[in-house]
Amino acid sequence: MFISFEGGEGCGKTTQIALLHDWLTSLGHPVIQTREPGGTALGQALRTLLLDPRSELGSTSELLLYAADRAEHVERVVRPALTAGRIVLCDRFSDSTVAYQGYGRRLDLALIERLNRIATGGLTPDLTFWLKLDARTGLERRRDPDRFEAESLAFHRRIEAGFAELALRHPERIRLIDASLSVEQTARQIRDIVDKFLNK
Ligand code: C5P
Ligand code: MG
Repeated sequence: MFISFEGGEGCGKTTQIALLHDWLTSLGHPVIQTREPGGTALGQALRTLLLDPRSELGSTSELLLYAADRAEHVERVVRPALTAGRIVLCDRFSDSTVAYQGYGRRLDLALIERLNRIATGGLTPDLTFWLKLDARTGLERRRDPDRFEAESLAFHRRIEAGFAELALRHPERIRLIDASLSVEQTARQIRDIVDKFLNK
């Protein structure tokens, strides 16, 4: 089972993934936690480059680097874990590229979809949690902004709109989570959905 976590800056994905990981492990499920960018050795190098405020990257090269990170990650980490019967919890996946490079950077959405298909070989999450939080609130939670967090509020509002559009387009997969609630209340929303999914 493949679960991705998506959302804007400061939405609490990382905390929620760790909580879900611990809960699933306590129930005896084999589970791995991974992320994009940065789930492989190449990905870690790409992450450093992509997030460094000193990197001077054009939007197209940025898009291609995320695609390279994803191709490597799917091939070396995600698919092997799924084949071995593990539950994979992934911090960001293809939807982030649609939201950030498509809606944020305004790159061609059809091109992004094609690239995502190439990078993933068609792999789609079984479930995606969109941790929805007002963009301004999320940015206020951040310190030491990386290259993306230093972008304007308007950029982050476009990303929010992108995730909203994706959620409308893929209701069978994307679940909206209210990330403005407490850590525990947010975790409970996620657990309830995963619990139902596992007992389906
Ligand atoms: O989730 P986290 O903040 O650690 O992810 C790293 C950053 O990379 C994100 O904040 C986001 O700004 C950026 N990103 C992106 N496009 C992607 C994935 C991540 O712009 N496809
Ligand atoms: Mg960030």
